Amino acid sequence: MKYFQEVTEWEASYVPNHVYYLTDDKRKMVGYIKTGTKALIKFSKPMNFDPKGRKFVVLPKKGESDEVYFPKSVEKPVGQVIEVSGSNGKKYFLSKFGKGWSCTCTGYQFRHKCKHVDEMKEV
Ligand SMILES: [Zn+2]
Repeated sequence: MKYFQEVTEWEASYVPNHVYYLTDDKRKMVGYIKTGTKALIKFSKPMNFDPKGRKFVVLPKKGESDEVYFPKSVEKPVGQVIEVSGSNGKKYFLSKFGKGWSCTCTGYQFRHKCKHVDEMKEV
């Protein structure tokens, strides 16, 4: 989540440019800060946001992770899938594609390799 100050120059009439609290891709809005105020007003439900044709600058104010509001759903892969339990008790899914394996753990998401995949190679 980031705080986006809208800086659109509206042609037709005066439209106030607020600060919007959006996901990093600016597609979902969780809340906004009204022009001239400082408090973040959160909506009861996130709304879709259309940034098309509008201009924004990202404020240095730090936002939360997108996942706080929009948790990534763990997609179950198709094909040969092996379930493994991580050291922290979490479950991961290893799926085979071609000659390699992919894993749903965070380590794999970042580095495209992890100890779960390494263990599969040794077998
Ligand atoms: Zn893994």
